[in-house]
Amino acid sequence: MAKISFIGLGNMGLPMAQNLAKAGHDVIGFDALPAAREAATSAGLTIGESNTQVAETAEIIILMLPNGQIVQDVAKEVLTTLSKGSLLIDCSTIDVSSAKALHEMAKTADVHSLDAPVSGGIGGAAGGTLTFMVGGSTEAFEIGAPYFEIMGQKAVHCGDGGSGQSAKICNNMMLGISMIATCEAFAMAEKLGLSQSALFDVVSTSSGSCWSVNTYCPVPGVGPQSPADNDYKAGFAAALMLKDMDLSQQAAGSVEAATPLGEHATRLYKQMVEDGQGGADFSAIIHHLDKK
Ligand code: NAD
Repeated sequence: MAKISFIGLGNMGLPMAQNLAKAGHDVIGFDALPAAREAATSAGLTIGESNTQVAETAEIIILMLPNGQIVQDVAKEVLTTLSKGSLLIDCSTIDVSSAKALHEMAKTADVHSLDAPVSGGIGGAAGGTLTFMVGGSTEAFEIGAPYFEIMGQKAVHCGDGGSGQSAKICNNMMLGISMIATCEAFAMAEKLGLSQSALFDVVSTSSGSCWSVNTYCPVPGVGPQSPADNDYKAGFAAALMLKDMDLSQQAAGSVEAATPLGEHATRLYKQMVEDGQGGADFSAIIHHLDKK
């Protein structure tokens, strides 16, 4: 059984750390926020004294933090005490350039590293059904694979360092755009006098089908259960979608990729968040299109 240190015990990190402990690993965690440490202790997780202290004993160290700057700061701290040959896995969703900087720092310290952002949200973290998109060397991926298997149902090795984050933002940019396209079609159907369930029946088995229609339809009472059926309670909050859309635009700018729909979709989620709806599910953007 491995000695695993877990930093960032928030909505996602705590259940992921718990699943590793439940599988019999020797897990110690830390979080900068006292309330998060207390919640983790109540949940039965062993808590250390600081980021650097929990890193001292780690064979594997996992980060689940809010953004690229914090990940880089914490990586600098823990790399002072991590043993050579240990593995640093960053599961946070961050910008590609911070992910690449993290791999460089780890390499200098003789520590293996992976960027491994996730899809699946809080439910996936609790149920151990996350999908990991992983960037880094094959050797590092092989060391990390058994832990991805515990925390998730699938881990895809996407390529070199940074490619996990690249895959994540490409996926989420497509999701952000396809949700708006879905909302536009359903809102237009209503105005054309076409029943929304008829549109669902057609599209879900036709060329317009996509996850936003088939699994997560933004209209209440249509398709499988989704946040629309629960007054658009998140699910995946619009503020988190905006974070990922902003990261996609940052990445597009850095390589001069043309993403005109990504850019426009980012603006629409930004308006929704500025209208005070950042805590609602991102599919509630259907109401923001209606307004215009
Ligand atoms: P969260 O805010 O609930 O948790 C982050 C934790 O990091 C907090 O408890 C915070 O106190 C801690 N932290 C911040 N700075 C720290 C530091 N310097 N040292 C130690 N701990 C520190 O966020 P979350 O929802 O768990 O998301 C974590 C990451 O996962 C984010 O990058 C997010 O984009 C990504 N993600 C979230 C979801 C989701 O549905 N919540 C889905 C996929 C990916």
